[in-house]
Amino acid sequence: MSVTWTVKVLGLGAVALTLSLELFVQLLRHLRPRTILNEVLFFPSEVACVEHILKPSPYSCLCMLPHDVETSFSRLLRHILSASSSLDLCLFAFSNMDLCSAVLALHSKGIIIRVLADSDYAAITGSQIGVLRKAGICVRCDLSSVCMHHKFAVVDDRLLLNGSLNWTLKAVQSNMENVVVTEVPDLVQPFVKEFHRLWVHSDPAQYKSSDQNHFIITKTSDEPELMNI
Ligand SMILES: [Zn+2]
Repeated sequence: MSVTWTVKVLGLGAVALTLSLELFVQLLRHLRPRTILNEVLFFPSEVACVEHILKPSPYSCLCMLPHDVETSFSRLLRHILSASSSLDLCLFAFSNMDLCSAVLALHSKGIIIRVLADSDYAAITGSQIGVLRKAGICVRCDLSSVCMHHKFAVVDDRLLLNGSLNWTLKAVQSNMENVVVTEVPDLVQPFVKEFHRLWVHSDPAQYKSSDQNHFIITKTSDEPELMNI
């Protein structure tokens, strides 16, 4: 066997070995069960800049807040922004402008967003519900006689964010709050079903025209300003 032939055989053998190893690694990755995300976030969150999360840019933000700091709030934002197909929000209070920016950013990317809000809180000064509506996001207000006090979000019917945290600046920066983040199907699916039930129940189409005034959000001068929630 010539030296050239021997070199060729050895070269082919090396290539075959490399490909086999690569295939083996890929196979292991497929066989290994995917890690299910479970995380608990506590608030108040450390105050830090989140501009780089909301608007990734090659230019550095020049604001005075700390940068590149991972906080409970930045984690919350990243989970919300991980949506690739849908985001369902069931929120008593929504006045946090950074969270509103995150939802608007998803909407501009074509993510399907549904917002179920408390009808009284939606009308309070500072509420971002009107901003979402103006952007074309589908918002429904709960009409039941009991208070709609939920604070949960479901991302892609896969990831649940639920806890005591109202989506307000006060709650994020000043209150002791918690948010459980989980992909455990036994926990996520009941929230998916409950959101669907409440969404259908709040469909204006199923009410008579005489009941439509329930859906009109008005702001009167004697309503309280944004509550500390
Ligand atoms: Zn900044």
